[in-house]
Amino acid sequence: MAKTTSTDVDAPGAPSVDEISERILQAIWEHRLPPGTKLVEEKLSEVFGVSRTKIRLALGRLSHDSILTVEPNRGTFVASPTVEQARQVFNARRVLEPALLRDLSGQVRREQLARLRKNIALEGEARERNDRRATIRLSGQFHLLIAELGQNPYLHKCIRELCSLTCLVIALYDAPGTPACPHHEHDAIVDALEQGDAERACMLMIEHLTHIENTLRLEMPGDEEIDFRAVFA
Ligand SMILES: [Zn+2]
Repeated sequence: MAKTTSTDVDAPGAPSVDEISERILQAIWEHRLPPGTKLVEEKLSEVFGVSRTKIRLALGRLSHDSILTVEPNRGTFVASPTVEQARQVFNARRVLEPALLRDLSGQVRREQLARLRKNIALEGEARERNDRRATIRLSGQFHLLIAELGQNPYLHKCIRELCSLTCLVIALYDAPGTPACPHHEHDAIVDALEQGDAERACMLMIEHLTHIENTLRLEMPGDEEIDFRAVFA
């Protein structure tokens, strides 16, 4: 029989695989685990008080969603999207999120609108107290909530993945001091939904996503070769 080590057995009340992957995801959303961070199974198993098998399952789940990348012989890392991938993330969101709004519009219920407004209010409060981590998480959650209300599990899964990748993109390419999602734009989208104006809601969402993309510095070196002559002219 194999010798039992501290990491073979779960501590009492240890979190489930779901809970572990959720907590890692939350840390990524809040930029507590920046892009490119190496996730060491042994250390995580100590922190969570669970077996390495459970950690491996949690990491496997997240790498399946493209949030983590597994590099053979090197380990598992928080994904670090390139400029091109960042643009693809926004392009995908501009296709999918209006589709969700179109589905929702005309059948959105009062309590669903209230949940969206509540999320906006919490985001506003986080912004007021300069809690950048909470602001970024809540602004992403607004989009996730729309996906959840849309009741299409496949779209929901895609949006969840794309929103997580967006958080990583913001961590990598954010210009200092720019907000995650311009606050009033979420309000305007909910107003259009409430009025049953699907076309306006879709247009506002596309503009909103373009707006976020444009606040990022996605023209980084590496996109094209640096002209040293021009730099030092
Ligand atoms: Zn937003």
